[in-house]
Amino acid sequence: MRDFAAELEERKQAGLYRTRRQISGPQQPALVSDGVPLLSFCSNDYLGLANHPEIIRAATDAMPSTGFGGAASHLICGHHDAHHQLELRLADFTRRSSALFFSTGYMANMGVISALAGRGDTIFSDRLNHASIVDGCILSRARLRRYRHSDMNALADMLAATDGHKLVVTDGVFSMDGDIAPLRKLAALCRAHDALLVVDDAHGLGVLGPQGRGSLMELGLSEEDVPILIGTLGKAVGTSGAFVAGPQLLMDYLVQKARTYIYTTAMPPAIALATCASLDLIEREDSRRSHLQMLVSEFRQEASALGYELMPSRTPIQPIMVGDNWAALALSRALEERGLMVTAIRPPTVPEGQARLRVTFSAAHSSQDLATLLSALADCRSLLSKPSAEVV
Ligand code: PMP
Repeated sequence: MRDFAAELEERKQAGLYRTRRQISGPQQPALVSDGVPLLSFCSNDYLGLANHPEIIRAATDAMPSTGFGGAASHLICGHHDAHHQLELRLADFTRRSSALFFSTGYMANMGVISALAGRGDTIFSDRLNHASIVDGCILSRARLRRYRHSDMNALADMLAATDGHKLVVTDGVFSMDGDIAPLRKLAALCRAHDALLVVDDAHGLGVLGPQGRGSLMELGLSEEDVPILIGTLGKAVGTSGAFVAGPQLLMDYLVQKARTYIYTTAMPPAIALATCASLDLIEREDSRRSHLQMLVSEFRQEASALGYELMPSRTPIQPIMVGDNWAALALSRALEERGLMVTAIRPPTVPEGQARLRVTFSAAHSSQDLATLLSALADCRSLLSKPSAEVV
């Protein structure tokens, strides 16, 4: 047997041991973590919808008629008309022909990639793609070529040197850096090299584009430019689950082939109806996006002025780069002592030597919340200029 205890100890020694915090009450910026009230700047609830009364009401109103449990997989007897209604709504929201509702984004990426590519094919994946994309690539058994982050010259060379079926996959907005993939160039390259393009817009949906329709719609990229769009519903949408959207032919194919769609219990139908209510709010309330943008711009200006290193991101994901694992933990702890929750992100979630605090903003943050964060960051600035041994 492997020495599991020694492996855990090794992680602890390297500052890489991960712990879970216990949250009480609803997800919102002011929350209770391990019994302590904190102001959170680390959730993916970008539009502040996770605790919205209209969404909660849609779920509770639905339950007397839909019941709660999903009871079976979609292909047995779990495919409810609430799921069908959500799929139509998602297709309309993303301006695509059709959509398929998955139980999580992790499962959507695993299922879609492993269904659309297989032995003998080649997948090209951005080095900073999310873990679920990497796992989907591995599961597919296709040859995997990882290209340098957003480097379109490197990708063009790889595509030109490869024969056979090609699939290119990228995050729309990168989850740990917050930057946006060069989507127009990706679409053009894939067209030129006859490669199938898959974009996971987990962090762009709801936030970017007209009425929050996502990164692709912000650039006017249609289903012809990017055939496969994946979106998750547990982030800006504030509910749970995920979807893939694109041509009907590909959705029909996925229903037959995507194992993470076929062999799992359907989501509770009430979640599908609550998600429809959330999409209505997202379309209707531009003010959430403009407030969010204001918070992001002000944060970038003020945090840079304090001397913090930020990433080139205009999205609500605004990492503060630290580098050393222990220094990232120390900064996170110092902020917590000042009433703030900002989780330190360390390898293997990010590359070695690039530990960071992943600050995220929500439309539910007030200007006062931002001022509280900036004042705590001003207090803690000196922590980062000391060598890491002193920090711990
Ligand atoms: N894709 C990306 C880019 C993500 O960041 C995440 C989750 N952090 C997922 C997929 C997985 O989505 P879910 O949480 O719904 O499993």
